[in-house]
Amino acid sequence: MRKAEQINEQSKWYELTPGCEIYEPGTARLTNTGEWRTQTPTFLADRCKQCLLCVPYCPDSAILIQDGRPDFDFDHCKGCGICAKVCPFGAITFHKEAHDHG
Ligand code: SF4
Ligand code: SF4
Repeated sequence: MRKAEQINEQSKWYELTPGCEIYEPGTARLTNTGEWRTQTPTFLADRCKQCLLCVPYCPDSAILIQDGRPDFDFDHCKGCGICAKVCPFGAITFHKEAHDHG
């Protein structure tokens, strides 16, 4: 079976895996999955208490810990909004992307 790293925008349809299935773990680092996002969280640093509750809730590991809690990893945030729901201090707002016409 073809590995995910061998599939790209130049791949022909017959080179894709059946059902576009992926057979190995850890492939998100190869892909800018943040492009799928239609809504975006905004981090309000002045409200953040650095409790880090939002970190384990993010299904895409898009909230990094580097000298505390920095801004989101927008290359991988898919805009699910879970972080905005779980933040107890209102430090994350959520809004539609400017290019979303839906
Ligand atoms: S849950 Fe809210 S207050 Fe806690 S680290 Fe995340 S953004 Fe900051
Ligand atoms: S919107 Fe979803 S994917 Fe993006 S940082 Fe928040 S929890 Fe993670």
